[in-house]
Amino acid sequence: MPPAFRFAPSPNGPLHLGHALSALTGYQMAQTSGGRFLLRIEDIDAVRTREDFIASIVDDLAWLGISWEQPVLRQSTRLAAYQAAARRLQDEGLIYPCFANRSQINAVIANCPNPRDPDGAPMFPATMRRLAPAETAARVARGEPHALRLDMPRAIAAMRTKINGAPLTFTELAPDGTPQTRFARPERWGDAVIVRKETPASYHLAVVVDDAFQGVTHITRGRDLLAATDLHRLLQVLLDLPEPVYHHHRLILGADGQKLSKSASATGLAELRAGGATPASVRALIGL
Ligand code: GLU
Repeated sequence: MPPAFRFAPSPNGPLHLGHALSALTGYQMAQTSGGRFLLRIEDIDAVRTREDFIASIVDDLAWLGISWEQPVLRQSTRLAAYQAAARRLQDEGLIYPCFANRSQINAVIANCPNPRDPDGAPMFPATMRRLAPAETAARVARGEPHALRLDMPRAIAAMRTKINGAPLTFTELAPDGTPQTRFARPERWGDAVIVRKETPASYHLAVVVDDAFQGVTHITRGRDLLAATDLHRLLQVLLDLPEPVYHHHRLILGADGQKLSKSASATGLAELRAGGATPASVRALIGL
């Protein structure tokens, strides 16, 4: 079986140089290994998704000289699969309903120093974890909107049982292609949201379900998502999904040293194209 790579943009803004590096890195690795290259549109956020962004993503990728297999998978068509995966986790007691909204969480955090998740977001406060079962059941029965959060201690215990106490690891390909074994450390995270209030999924759930569904063997993405691999490996074990190989590539930083944002037009592919850039000059700009 040939390896399978993918580019998985969220269509909530135009592509910038960071996306170009991500897409070209995966595409080049697919080309040199005789692998497949897939495109997945991560459009579960109905509020921020825009059809014109999807059209310009496709246009920019083709302009860069990238081609991909059809059909393109849209996550908005996969909600039933995410629901089934969430139901399984819930049946096993590994996720629980959480009714708290952002301002309630912020109010708790403001009153006591709280650690952060590895992505920099405030960790879900331990004092707000699982409510009494009767209260939870009553609020769910009333139809109160809620997210579903991973019960991290229980999820880690279940994962350890499944892998017979072995450490949770993943293979990271170094920039020169050398495979390195890394430890995944989900215990660094608080109870992550697995199903959001407004959609029957979250990035973490959808990404593992779809990488398995599409037969992705190699995940190439930016280093900003390296810590999320802790959660993805945990979910892969809990859901009996195959383990892909990872390559987290360097990030392109803006002149201010910060991660590029979708609104900063100086590094947008559309602006660069309008200003006369060529695919070759874009490659040069991102050091390829
Ligand atoms: N959709 C995510 C993003 O645009 C990337 C997901 C991934 O590569 O795992 O940041």
